[in-house]
This record gives sequence, structure tokens and C-alpha cells, in this order.
Amino acid sequence: MQSVRIFLQNGRGACISYSSRMFSSSSRADQKSYKLVVVGGGTGGCSTAARFCHRLGKGKVAVIEPSEKHYYQPLWTLVGGGLKTFEETVRPTSQVLPKDCDWIKAKVVNFDPDNNKVTTSDGQEIKYEFMVVTMGMQLNFNLIPGALEALKNDPQVVSNYAPWTVQKTFKAIKNTKSGNAIFTFPNTPIKCAGAPQKIMYLAEEQFRKNGVRDKVTVLYNTALGVIFGVKKYAASLLKVVEKRNIKVNYRRNLIEVKSDKKEAVFEDLDSGKKETFTYSMLHLTPPMSAPDELRQCKKLVNEAGFLEVNNETLQSTRYPNIFSIGDCNSAPTSKTAAAVASQGGVVFKNLTALMNGRPMQKKYDGYTSCPLITRKGRCILAEFDYNGNPLETFPIDQGKERWTMYHLKADVLPVMYWNGMLPGRWNGPGFYRKALRLGLSDGRTKQA
Ligand SMILES: Cc1cc2nc3c(=O)[nH]c(=O)nc-3n(C[C@H](O)[C@H](O)[C@H](O)COP(=O)(O)OP(=O)(O)OC[C@H]3O[C@@H](n4cnc5c(N)ncnc54)[C@H](O)[C@@H]3O)c2cc1C
Repeated sequence: MQSVRIFLQNGRGACISYSSRMFSSSSRADQKSYKLVVVGGGTGGCSTAARFCHRLGKGKVAVIEPSEKHYYQPLWTLVGGGLKTFEETVRPTSQVLPKDCDWIKAKVVNFDPDNNKVTTSDGQEIKYEFMVVTMGMQLNFNLIPGALEALKNDPQVVSNYAPWTVQKTFKAIKNTKSGNAIFTFPNTPIKCAGAPQKIMYLAEEQFRKNGVRDKVTVLYNTALGVIFGVKKYAASLLKVVEKRNIKVNYRRNLIEVKSDKKEAVFEDLDSGKKETFTYSMLHLTPPMSAPDELRQCKKLVNEAGFLEVNNETLQSTRYPNIFSIGDCNSAPTSKTAAAVASQGGVVFKNLTALMNGRPMQKKYDGYTSCPLITRKGRCILAEFDYNGNPLETFPIDQGKERWTMYHLKADVLPVMYWNGMLPGRWNGPGFYRKALRLGLSDGRTKQA
């Protein structure tokens, strides 16, 4: 099948992205109708479908998801660091979706919110009373000239961000004996903003173990102007990079990879000048965006292409019967699975209220979390809200590198993900945060 894609807007403003497979189909589109349609069967989609199948019963919920495989992406940092296997992060989608939902194994290519319907890549029209959009983020490696070619052909150019390249990372780390090991952060919003540096810390530790650390220069070239967006954790991370002799270059955006010369070209975002670095290992974090199929629907998205929601209720600002959870929505928080858990609980309560004609009362406070692994057995557990105020679960200083937080990240959270979150039983740690403080505080502290 050709991979040609065409985006167009029809007369009513519905947004259409056709693949050539649609044009070659001669059959008329089927039409199906559901109480709730969930677009995307990743972290947010599975847990949402589970919650509503339980509430609404068999045949009422459809999940539109093209992938046969479901990934627990947060563990890819540890796969890249050689501490977990890739197999531990993958399960068949059929196993993780609730058995009472209808799984439509296709992509949504057209949103028509005025007529409460979507069109799929296999030509079906799916109608809904309510819709939750959980399509995640699109990886745009193609926006960096030479990056895709380098990822395919150069064993030393890797990325933890995609299932087809994460397994290269640890091999590249082990092969690095000297020169520059460069880790990048792009000039766009990304999922898990801590992941580009977590793998750097694991690599740096491995270089020491291999006895090559004095010959390898470790560089963190980030498009951001800070190492992390929350001051408390940034202060801790600055101590880590200083102690371990890691060079941080701020406001540097990767714009080209020349793998034939082992060169990475960066733009200095302040002066506009180009700077070329040779590399012996390059870990890429690609530019990201909301998926094209969503971005094309101007009626649903904000200027940046994310589904525009009310920051508290997570309801579409324009269509009351549409909600969005996770990486593809406009909520101005750090995009993580932890945020998805909290958002999922809020959407379940608010959408249930709406379905029953009651007012929506649940408010999302922007809770998100990033377990910043600094080496094997050590982790700073960053947790914070919309304002960047720490919102820590445990009544201890989480700004310190701790073994307990590493164990939580590496061993406890994966079990909770498969057995608690995907079946719709985990709404984030809010309840435990209060309980651990005997109900006297919600654990929120102001940024210094
Ligand atoms: C390397 C790495 C490390 C991370 N570390 C952490 C961490 O430590 N802690 C943490 O909390 N989070 C972490 N994350 C982030 C976390 O995995 C995501 O934030 C989370 O999975 C987002 O969930 P989602 O449902 O929004 O998107 P996803 O889980 O990505 O699911 C989106 C789904 O939508 C589907 N889809 C896309 N387009 C369409 C379409 N047109 N039609 C239908 N379906 C579509 C996709 O196939 C996919 O299954 C990490 C991510 C990575 C890559």
C-alpha cells in the first residue's frame, strides 16, 4: 500500500486525512453508533475505556486504536540503560483493553464534531454521544534532516522515544569508548521532559563502569534555558551534573545529523548561529506534536495543535460532549503517564456527571510526576502542579536522590500500571498524599 496522505477540509469544516487505502476501497462506509467513543488505546484510552465499560456495560464503548501492541513507555528509560528488557514493556492491545468494549482496529482520519462522528482509516463512520480523545503525541524525527537515516544506519545514533530504536541505546552506550556522548532536548513540548536527561545519567554511570569515563565528554544540549522546569528539582539536578562533570549547553536545538561525518548540528536559539559537534554517541529526543489527524481539525485544537480543553474540567472548550486526556490535550502541565492517571479520574467523574445531567465538580490541578533516575538505584521523584509547586506524595524531601524512589519507579509502578491503572483503578496518589499527612495538608509547597 502507498503511504501517500492528503489532508483537506470539507465544506463544513470537518477535517479529513485520507490514506491511499481509503481511496482504493470500493465499499460504502459502515456506520456504527456508541454511547462513548475513545480515540486511542494507549495509557489514557485503556484506563478510560475500562472505567466506562464498567459503568455503562457491554457494547456501549468503542475504542479506536490501530496498534496491535500496547507499550509501557516509562520503562523505556531503563531498557535504554540496560536495566530492564524491552519485552517487559509490551503487551498485546487485545489483552489490555477491557473485554466489554468494541475495539475498532484502525486510525481516526477525520473528526466531525458538529455531527458527532469520526471516520476511520478503513472507511467506517463511527457516531458517538460522547467522545474522549487520548491520541498521545507524534514523534517527528523527520523534522531533523538526517535523523531518520542516522537512526536506521548508525549504531551510535539512538533514541529511547520509539519502540523501534530503544533497544539500540544500551548497545551504543557499551560501544562508546571516547569522544562526545551527546544527549538532546528539542524545541517543542515533549512527553516526559525528564527522560532526555535520565538516560544521560545512566549512560554516564556505565562509562565509569567500563573504565572510559575520563575519555568521554558527556554533553546535554537542550533547547530549554533551564535543566528542569521546577526550581526545587532543578537545584538538585544542577548538583548532580556538576558532581559528575556533565556539560550542559542551554538553548541548543538539534537541526541536522550528518552521520557520514559523525556530526550533529545545533542552532544556538539566542544568537541564531549554527554549531557543529562531533559525536561518538548521540541520543536524540525528537520534536513532537499532537498527531496530524487531530492537528488538522482546527475546530478542536488550539494554535499549537493540541485539543483545547478547560484546564480544570478537561472538557473541550467548544464541544461539551468531548473530553481529552493525556499528551494530546492542551492542559499546560508536563506530559506524563502520571498526569494521565489524575486526568483520567477527573474526566471519569465529570463525564459521568454530564451523562447524568448533574454539574461537573471535579477539578484537575495539573498534577504530574517525573521520576528522575540519576543512576542505578537512585532517583529524585519530582511531583508538581500547574504552577510548578511541588506536590509530593511522601512526607520526606523528594528533592534528594533516594533508593526507595528508584525501587518505586523500577519495580512498583510497572505493576501498578498493568494491574491498577489500565483496568481503571488508579487515579493518582492524591488520596495517599493526604492520608500520609493524616489529612492535615495536601502536601503542596510553594516554589522558592
Ligand atoms: C522514553 C519515555 C519515558 C517516559 N517516562 C515516563 C515516566 O517516567 N513517568 C511517566 O509518568 N510518564 C513517562 N513517559 C510518558 C508517558 O508514557 C506518556 O505521557 C503516556 O503514555 C501518555 O498517555 P496517552 O494515552 O496520552 O498517549 P499514549 O499512551 O502514547 O497512547 C496514544 C495512543 O493513541 C493511538 N493513536 C495515535 N493516533 C491515532 C489515531 N489517528 N487514531 C486512533 N488512535 C491513535 C496510538 O496508537 C497510541 O496507542 C515516558 C515516555 C517515554 C517515551
